[in-house]
Amino acid sequence: MDNKNILISGAGIAGTTLAFWLKKFGFNPAIIENSPELRKGGHAIDFMGAGFDVAEKMKIIPALKEVDINFSKLVFVDSNNKERGSMNYQKIKNFLNGRAFTLFRSDLAKIIYQNIGEGVEIIFGDTIAKIDQTEKEVTVTFQSGKTRNFDLLVGADGLHSNVRKLVFGNESQFEKYYGYYTSSFTIDNFSLGNNAFSMYNVPYKQVAVFSKDGNKTTTFFIFASPEKLSYQHHDIAKQKQILKSEFENSGWKCPELLSKIDSTTDFYFDSVSQIKMENWYKGRIALVGDAGYCPSLLSGKGSTLAMVGAYILAGELKQATGNYKTAFEQYEILFKPFMEKKQKSARSFAKSFIPKSNFGIWLRNKIFKLMSVSIISKLFLNQFKDSELKLKEY
Ligand SMILES: Cc1cc2nc3c(=O)[nH]c(=O)nc-3n(C[C@H](O)[C@H](O)[C@H](O)COP(=O)(O)OP(=O)(O)OC[C@H]3O[C@@H](n4cnc5c(N)ncnc54)[C@H](O)[C@@H]3O)c2cc1C
Repeated sequence: MDNKNILISGAGIAGTTLAFWLKKFGFNPAIIENSPELRKGGHAIDFMGAGFDVAEKMKIIPALKEVDINFSKLVFVDSNNKERGSMNYQKIKNFLNGRAFTLFRSDLAKIIYQNIGEGVEIIFGDTIAKIDQTEKEVTVTFQSGKTRNFDLLVGADGLHSNVRKLVFGNESQFEKYYGYYTSSFTIDNFSLGNNAFSMYNVPYKQVAVFSKDGNKTTTFFIFASPEKLSYQHHDIAKQKQILKSEFENSGWKCPELLSKIDSTTDFYFDSVSQIKMENWYKGRIALVGDAGYCPSLLSGKGSTLAMVGAYILAGELKQATGNYKTAFEQYEILFKPFMEKKQKSARSFAKSFIPKSNFGIWLRNKIFKLMSVSIISKLFLNQFKDSELKLKEY
C-alpha cells in the first residue's frame, strides 16, 4: 500500500467516517480539528438510505439504534400549540422496512468517533495555516507553528472548508445560497410534554422542537432571507442576536426558547447553501462531505452522504493500493453524478421549503392531514432510498 499517511482536516461526520475506513483498510490516518473537543449539537437527522448501508458495514447499527429518537409523529401546531396537521413517523419507518432512524447529529458524530479504532492521532484545537504539495508529498503548517509532511490530505472541514479555501480558492466561487438560514441549539428545563416533533410556522419562518427524556429540548429554526447576511462565522453573539430579532415576535414558544439562548453551549447557525465544484481533488489533496459537495439542509441527507463519500473515497484508495491518482479519479466517477442529482433534487425544494403565507401554512397542514403514507412515500421517501447508488464491497 502506497501513500499511507493521510491527514484529514475536520472531525465531523465525513472526517471521522473517513478515518474509520482508512484505518480499517490499512492506512495511517490522522485528524486535525479546530475545536478543542468533538463538536456537539445540531438538529435531528433522518438516517436512512446509503448512509444506513455504510453504518451497517461499520457495524454501528446497534449503537445507533440505542440513540434513535424514535418519536411518534411530526405535528404542525398553531400559536396556541394546538395540533393542525401531523405525519405518522412510525408508518414511514415501516415503509422503509425499519432501515431508518432519527438521530441527533451529535449522537451520530460521537458514535462514529468512538469507533474510529485504536491508534488514530487526533489533534484538537488546531488548524492548517499553510499547505504546499509536490509530486512526492504534502507539507502542512499548523496554526500552532508545527510543520509536518503527509502523503495525502483530505479536507472534511464542512461548508466553510479551510482546505478548500487554501487549495481551490475562495468559498464564493463554489457556494450557491438558497435563501434560508438555519439554527439549532439545546436547552434545559423546557418540554412540551409529548413524544412528538412539534413544528410551528409563521410565513417565511419555521421552528421545531423535540424534547428528550422529559427536559432536554433540541430546537431547530429556519427563516427566509433573500440576501446573504453579514456576520463572521466565529461571531456566535452576533448570530444569536440575528436569530433573536428574527423570531422574538413570532409567537408560540419562541420568546421562551430564545430566552434560554445565551446559556446554550452547542449553538449552530449557518446559511442553507450548496457547494458545487468542477473537481473534488487537486494533486494529492481531496475533499469529502460538505467541504466538496454540501447538498444543504434542503436535501435532508448532508450527514448520510458525507458518510457515503468517505466510504467510497477510502475504498477506492484501498482498491488502488494507495495510488491516489486512480483513487481520486474513481471517487469522482462513482459518486459525483449521484451527488449532482441529489443536489438538483434538493434545489427543487428551495422555493417551497417554508410556506410564505398563512394560506400556504393552512394548505400544507391540510395536505398532510389528507395524505396517506403511500402518497408521501411516492413523493418523498423513494428518493431517501438511494436505490440508484450501489455501494461496492472493498
Ligand atoms: C456542531 C454542528 C452542528 C450542526 N448542526 C446542523 C444543523 O442543525 N442543521 C444543518 O443543516 N446542518 C448542521 N450541521 C452540518 C451537518 O452536520 C453537515 O451538513 C453534515 O453532517 C456533513 O458533515 P461534514 O462532516 O461534511 O461537515 P461538518 O459536520 O460541518 O463537520 C466539519 C468539521 O470540521 C471542523 N472544522 C471546520 N473548520 C475547520 C478548520 N479550519 N480546521 C479543522 N477543522 C475544522 C468542524 O469543527 C467540524 O467538526 C452541523 C455541523 C456541526 C459541526
